[in-house]
Amino acid sequence: MDCRQIHQAYSVYLQGKLPPTQMEWVAQHIQNCPDCFLLDQNVRKAFLDEMTQDSNKSTPK
Ligand SMILES: [Zn+2]
Repeated sequence: MDCRQIHQAYSVYLQGKLPPTQMEWVAQHIQNCPDCFLLDQNVRKAFLDEMTQDSNKSTPK
């Protein structure tokens, strides 16, 4: 599996909706590929920030 395939599958991977074998492929590739590791860090952070902002809006303390 190469970087382009990882990038295509990544958004689905982040939602945990890939088939288990493909989840494994992407996870292993990210561990072994500095470029995709960086992508993972950046996208995950943006994704989590967005989730946090949404939940702050919809569930005030
Ligand atoms: Zn890669």
